[in-house]
Amino acid sequence: MQSLVWEAPRVMALRETPPPALAPGEVLVQVAYAGICGSELSGYLGKNALRVPPLVMGHEFAGTVAALSPEAQDQTPHLRPGQAVTANPLVSCGACSYCLSGRQHLCPRRQLIGAHRPGAYAEYVAIPAGQVSALPDGMSLAVGALAEPVACGVRIGELAGDVAGEDVLVIGAGPIGLLALQALRLRGARRVFAVDLSPERLAMAASLGAEVIDPRSQDAAAAVRTATAGEGVVVAVDAVGATATRGQAVAATRAGGAVILSGLHEESGVLPVADIIRREITLRGSFGYTPANFATALAWLAEGSAGLAPWVVEAPLAEGGAWFESLVAGKGAVAKVLLRPAR
Ligand SMILES: [Zn+2]
Ligand SMILES: [Zn+2]
Repeated sequence: MQSLVWEAPRVMALRETPPPALAPGEVLVQVAYAGICGSELSGYLGKNALRVPPLVMGHEFAGTVAALSPEAQDQTPHLRPGQAVTANPLVSCGACSYCLSGRQHLCPRRQLIGAHRPGAYAEYVAIPAGQVSALPDGMSLAVGALAEPVACGVRIGELAGDVAGEDVLVIGAGPIGLLALQALRLRGARRVFAVDLSPERLAMAASLGAEVIDPRSQDAAAAVRTATAGEGVVVAVDAVGATATRGQAVAATRAGGAVILSGLHEESGVLPVADIIRREITLRGSFGYTPANFATALAWLAEGSAGLAPWVVEAPLAEGGAWFESLVAGKGAVAKVLLRPAR
């Protein structure tokens, strides 16, 4: 089969590889679409400890069931060859306290498809049957491939807690920022402020109902404070992960509020800790999603209440390397690139 193989920093090539061997309990999915994730951009640049070349990345995908192992047939009798599916790519052990309490994404033995195991930038991908979800009736494969990033937004919204009627902030209007924005609105936030350096991304956030702040022309945190009568927001989400944006998130949050850290741009950095202490700000990480969040994401996509529709680009898998370069450069009104293996 054809696979897009990441071979070294900034080197990706279409290669002929053997199709994945189907282990007991696994399903073989013929990939229709596989999205490019921001974490894979840092991986592509060689700045992500989770990803080591040579590697077939790709963890946001949808496709059709090509084959089921005998155990998978027993375990998931609702899955049949040809069935349209997507999958939760965070494979967990199923036995630890996290897995047993519905927080499989925190399992210490979790493995991510496309990082620890071969991913979906290929014609076929193998995955344990329990990770696979049939697409709701009428959902296209291209929409189904968005379930994974939408689930990240669902998780951020869940951790934000009760924001009904409150003002909130999202820094970074990439795919996860845009989906967090939608999740916060669905949870009843009054105003969602959005900050991004890119005018195209600010326009996307504005069209989703955000009040946008351009940090190139003003101090973002000061602008948020001015707009909230000096108070700041109840919850600020940093979907970038730079020292500057993490600091902005703290500065824009009101005393007693919370900052949700989701962006992983920089592994570590300097935080205004004394300010966090004196104003009792809660810092919390948000990583991935629970299986329940993944199911909510599919439901939101099915009802059309979340998505990235106008800003999704479909491209042949063979052009994947060029799209990685283009996304690293950060140009254009593109929120998600879906790679399509040739048929
Ligand atoms: Zn992702
Ligand atoms: Zn576990």
